[in-house]
Amino acid sequence: MKFFHKVIDVENLSEGNFILKLERNDIVFKAGQFFSLGIPGTNINREYSVCSGENESSIDFLIREIDEGILSKELRKLKVSDEVKILGPYGNFYLKNFNLNENYIFIASGTGISPFMSLLKTYPNIKYQLYHGIRYKIDMINTLPEKNYFKFVSKENINNSNFFSGRITKNLEMLLKQDKRSYVFMCGNSMMVTDVYDSLLKNNFKPEKIFTEIFF
Ligand SMILES: Cc1cc2nc3c(=O)[nH]c(=O)nc-3n(C[C@H](O)[C@H](O)[C@H](O)COP(=O)(O)OP(=O)(O)OC[C@H]3O[C@@H](n4cnc5c(N)ncnc54)[C@H](O)[C@@H]3O)c2cc1C
Repeated sequence: MKFFHKVIDVENLSEGNFILKLERNDIVFKAGQFFSLGIPGTNINREYSVCSGENESSIDFLIREIDEGILSKELRKLKVSDEVKILGPYGNFYLKNFNLNENYIFIASGTGISPFMSLLKTYPNIKYQLYHGIRYKIDMINTLPEKNYFKFVSKENINNSNFFSGRITKNLEMLLKQDKRSYVFMCGNSMMVTDVYDSLLKNNFKPEKIFTEIFF
């Protein structure tokens, strides 16, 4: 097992977000899982969910640079051919018995969209609706299919067919009208996840079909 993986690219998406693309080598993972990343020679590691698909040649991570943060800043400064230490995969946030006939609801805040990017690349025929809470329109992921990708923008005033003003937690009507038998996967900050979880239960979604991953 080789733990050190070379950087292929650091792609800036917006002021805050970037994609770190690494050589995959012999890594195997399930869409939705995460790895612990670190810079060789330091003892600082952080967890990051894979955003590339199970069958792609590189392994990619969507990362938000945190102003006061330690590692996310350093990862953004990496150059092509620098090495990153990768441990994993970890986590159970993946589809256990994928079924084309089931409906899947994906709910993300910020870079919590990362596991869903991986899932949608891995299962392109999945039946889904994706709800994404972002701060600015520019934080949307424009490589995702536009259909069924609903963006909730908290720091800009915007309203059109797939954009809504305000946080997801203030715009739950559309989500709560979906089929109550759906599988629901939620990922991102703990406040969003716990608030939406409570609303789903109050609206008769099935607790055994709700799965969560908390980033911070
Ligand atoms: C299972 C798991 C998967 C994760 N996957 C991703 C991922 O795919 N992409 C990603 O960008 N991050 C992800 N994270 C968060 C990541 O591990 C780090 O916490 C984050 O990058 C900050 O690290 P840092 O060293 O820069 O900041 P630190 O010095 O560790 O933290 C600074 C502060 O920033 C807060 N913080 C952490 N993440 C965020 C955030 N996204 N927005 C606002 N504040 C934050 C922390 O709570 C802390 O108070 C994941 C976390 C977990 C537990």
